Amino acid sequence: MKNKFKQKLLVVGSVAFDSLKTPFGNVKKTLGGSATHFSLSASYFSSPSIIAVVGNDFKKENFNILKKRGTDISGVKIQNGKTFHWAGKYHFDLNTRDTLKTELGVFANFKPELNKQQQLSDFVFLGNIHPKLQLDVLNQIKKPKLIGLDTMNLWIETALPDLKKVLKKVNIFVINDSEARQLSKEHNIYKAAKKILAMLGSRWASSASAEDAHLQKTLIIKRGEYGLLLFNQNQIFHLPGIPLEDVIDPTGAGDTFAGGMFGYLAMKNSFRLNELKKACVYGSCLASFCVEQFGTKALHNLTKNQIENRAKQLHNLVKL
Ligand code: AMP
Repeated sequence: MKNKFKQKLLVVGSVAFDSLKTPFGNVKKTLGGSATHFSLSASYFSSPSIIAVVGNDFKKENFNILKKRGTDISGVKIQNGKTFHWAGKYHFDLNTRDTLKTELGVFANFKPELNKQQQLSDFVFLGNIHPKLQLDVLNQIKKPKLIGLDTMNLWIETALPDLKKVLKKVNIFVINDSEARQLSKEHNIYKAAKKILAMLGSRWASSASAEDAHLQKTLIIKRGEYGLLLFNQNQIFHLPGIPLEDVIDPTGAGDTFAGGMFGYLAMKNSFRLNELKKACVYGSCLASFCVEQFGTKALHNLTKNQIENRAKQLHNLVKL
């Protein structure tokens, strides 16, 4: 399952150390970050390139994990200082968590600089970082075909005007349900979706031709263990969550979902809604593996069979 069409896929986001406490244990300073989860997941379909920064405390073995999956890390700068560190604690139901620490380290002064190859990226995913940095990356891309976006409560609270500027420039926006409510100031998820679709605007944001614009502007609302809802001008689509008995650590599930989804679309070089729906199936499968182990561990060595079996499980769940 790999990049038949060689579409260039770029992701910007955090490459981080995560310290995690869940009802099932805790780990300190394990490999994490939005771009890390995204690219490990996307690597099962495409060859993503990462734009990020790490400190000189980032270990070679962590780079090796990314390299082994065929990820291009030439855009990950190493700077004097500490790697971004995030610490979180999950509640008993695992659907809610508290952020205990966000130590920016070298991320505080990060200025993304894309090389010539990266400027020619076709598929671009703006992973969870400050919206100003997301805009900065987007402004350097010559002719993106499809642009995806993720964000989090922190930026809705502290950088809303910048976030609204980015929203106008993307095609696919991925957000979780509590953030969707926060951003729209609507409790009802369908009213929230309507408001957020309006924030995305109606103009197709990429260089792909108008006939290619089957996806229109698309919003995907993630609902944790309950699956996802996809909205665009034409329809609403629902995917349930895959039934899992051993959920250990939900960290990065959203980024992993986005990586599988975008990696699949880049492999197919497609803007069609039915391919996006399949992409959501693969994104959900990858995310379902992610949550079964701490950190990124579950994403290091999956097989095509494991992924396809999960996809079948999901199909069987909704087959009449
Ligand atoms: P998710 O569980 O999908 O929301 O993603 C969790 C990942 O996001 C963790 O691996 C963190 O390192 C990363 N993360 C948390 N807060 C931030 C932030 N403010 N900026 C960038 N990445 C973050």
